Amino acid sequence: METQRSRNRKGAKRRRAQGNEQNRDAKKSKSEPPGSSFLEKMKARLSGGHFRMINEKLYTCTGEEALDYFKEDPSLFNVYHAGYQAQMSQWPEQPVHKIIEWLQARSPSLTVADFGCGDARVAKSVKNKVFSFDLVSNDPDVIAGDMSNTCLDSSSVDVAIFCLSLMGVNYPNFLKEAHRVLKPSGWLLIAEVKSRLDPKTGGADPNKFIKAVCELGFTRVSKDFTNKMFVLFHFTKQEKPISKRKEIAWPELKPCIYKRR
Ligand code: SAH
Repeated sequence: METQRSRNRKGAKRRRAQGNEQNRDAKKSKSEPPGSSFLEKMKARLSGGHFRMINEKLYTCTGEEALDYFKEDPSLFNVYHAGYQAQMSQWPEQPVHKIIEWLQARSPSLTVADFGCGDARVAKSVKNKVFSFDLVSNDPDVIAGDMSNTCLDSSSVDVAIFCLSLMGVNYPNFLKEAHRVLKPSGWLLIAEVKSRLDPKTGGADPNKFIKAVCELGFTRVSKDFTNKMFVLFHFTKQEKPISKRKEIAWPELKPCIYKRR
């Protein structure tokens, strides 16, 4: 049977628990932006899930299939980019900023091709002429299509950029296209998610990747593994065309699966 004393103890415990709950709520309302209601959190969770689904699709199909996927429902591209920007905002440094800094330190007369440009941040941040390519265009300056087959003339640009955009399973075709459109000695800049090129996390051997790019007709200038989230490579196109085209052993690049936030 419950005594008066044990009832009092239980009541005190309940009041303490309620107090803790209120403290937690008070702390929450201080640290969270206004309007972070349950409904908004659920919406964010759903769109986060949708982003991860589209992201996985892009990493597991060819560029052509990705183009068809977005042609069927172009609104998926906006869902993808909202999720992508949310992920990027968590990174201490974004690779696109490193690439912009690199370009700003060089002559604005260099012409640039930005393969998989997203919101065309490069074009918006530099004085250079930039040809921006992506699967969908929400911006008059972005050329829509699969970047394995662009409208650019052969040997016509000075810099080709792939910033986190080697997504399709046929990624070597994107690099072959960059090789075609680059002038001899032109620059190839590749930033990729570190885990995709880190054997410790199940990623590809970066040296195999570098070797394959060189066999395509490039010379490695630098590799930068200092950032926690991405790796950055600089190559230049070899002056002389590669005479004997041997089969290149491209390593498989695993999808980058973004964590739930
Ligand atoms: N470079 C941008 C966006 C990176 S997200 C930045 O750093 O901010 C990767 C982008 O590559 C996406 O916008 C995606 O649509 C694009 N992409 C992936 N495969 C592509 C393909 N085959 N052709 C054109 N764009 C592609």
